[in-house]
Amino acid sequence: MEQSSLIKPVLGGTYPTISHGHGVFLYDKDGKDYLDASSGAVTANIGHGVQEVMEAMVQQAKQVSFVYRSQFTSEAAEELADKMAELTKGDLAYSFFVNSGSEATETALKIAIQHWQEKGKPKKQKVISRWMSYHGITMGALSMSGHPIRRERFTSMLESYPSVSPPYCYRCPLQLDPHTCGMVCASELEASIRRIGSDNIAAFIAEPVIGAAGGVIVPPDGYFQKLKKICEENDILFIADEVMTGFGRTGKMLACEYWDVEPDIVTFGKGMSGGYTPIAAAVMTKKVMEPIRNGSRSIIGGHTLSANPLSCAVSLAVLKYVEENELVEKSADRGKDLSRGLKKLARKYSFIGDIRGRGLLIGLEFVQDKATKKPFANPADVTNAIIGLGTKNGILLYPAAAGLDGVTGSAIIISPPLTITEEECAELLMRIDITFQQFNETLGKLPS
Ligand code: PMP
Repeated sequence: MEQSSLIKPVLGGTYPTISHGHGVFLYDKDGKDYLDASSGAVTANIGHGVQEVMEAMVQQAKQVSFVYRSQFTSEAAEELADKMAELTKGDLAYSFFVNSGSEATETALKIAIQHWQEKGKPKKQKVISRWMSYHGITMGALSMSGHPIRRERFTSMLESYPSVSPPYCYRCPLQLDPHTCGMVCASELEASIRRIGSDNIAAFIAEPVIGAAGGVIVPPDGYFQKLKKICEENDILFIADEVMTGFGRTGKMLACEYWDVEPDIVTFGKGMSGGYTPIAAAVMTKKVMEPIRNGSRSIIGGHTLSANPLSCAVSLAVLKYVEENELVEKSADRGKDLSRGLKKLARKYSFIGDIRGRGLLIGLEFVQDKATKKPFANPADVTNAIIGLGTKNGILLYPAAAGLDGVTGSAIIISPPLTITEEECAELLMRIDITFQQFNETLGKLPS
């Protein structure tokens, strides 16, 4: 058959059929190499073809690859939960495993609701989130997501949970000056709680650093401390969605560590297994778990394949690899190198409006005019053109939503595996430069 019957994605233009991967490189069936500048969807944190992971996979498959979580636990699942508690530090002590980031955020909300029910507050069911957020594609996770493009076709099936403004200082939603604004966007949470009544709210959910829904948005210092305080004062649980940021991506084990804020529940996915097997988790504090343990005794959630030993063993091998190879520290260091190089490119190309990020999670927002921040007339075409050129030049880039409504801006995420070396960073910057040069040459032909 000439055409594969596999349904293809729709973004970016060209889709190489990948044959194999090694380190930060993927190779197509014709032998062309691609520097995986996005780690897939910010997932392949330890790179491709890691021997230790393959060995753990084979070893676990030989022992046992599936037991049903409601009948048995497994050594791999128990060891992984202990490792997660160790790495997340503080009071985050209990893990519930699922198969995807979307399930993890939905489970986190269910845990929050269950927590309050066990405490005799059954009306606490709603969750507050932010515009420019993405918490997953299942209906519950999408209900919590302020992501217009992902929501638009399913609105009749989605809950309209309240949302507050994101800390998108490049284009402040409240049109305030970030130096003098007093973080009104964080205070909006308080106003929202007053309007809905804290008796009706189970949790507030936020990505510590906004990923795909905003082209990487880092909040100002003090922002999360303020939100956490508001949550505490109103008996609302704070869920940190670290599906994208967790386990080293931003140069800290958890991105929340940047602001010394401990969430009540954290969700992980993506880098938790580096893409080697599907696994994700909702991790909660003792305080959250206690009433559940004393009441219905376990979390109401999970799927048939949740906590399967094969995925757990692989995740454990990945997390050990992150630790033993000091990838959190390397993410911080290489992130600085890359950001420095990208800032140099921003001086050369007028269409790079903003560069932002932490560690190896870096967003670039593209504009027609750097001074006025005027976005392109067809932002999605710009993103697709750059990604398409990148693919031709052997770099895989990740598209992100940008602009206040998530559609009027254009952005990409650069997030190579945390294992990237200095030489590979230089190679990546060279390929990005070539890609931007080619895009620059098309600029005069774009509609303004
Ligand atoms: N939360 C965040 C912050 C994400 O970035 C994503 C995926 N992009 C999800 C949740 C959903 O994860 P998954 O695609 O594994 O369901």
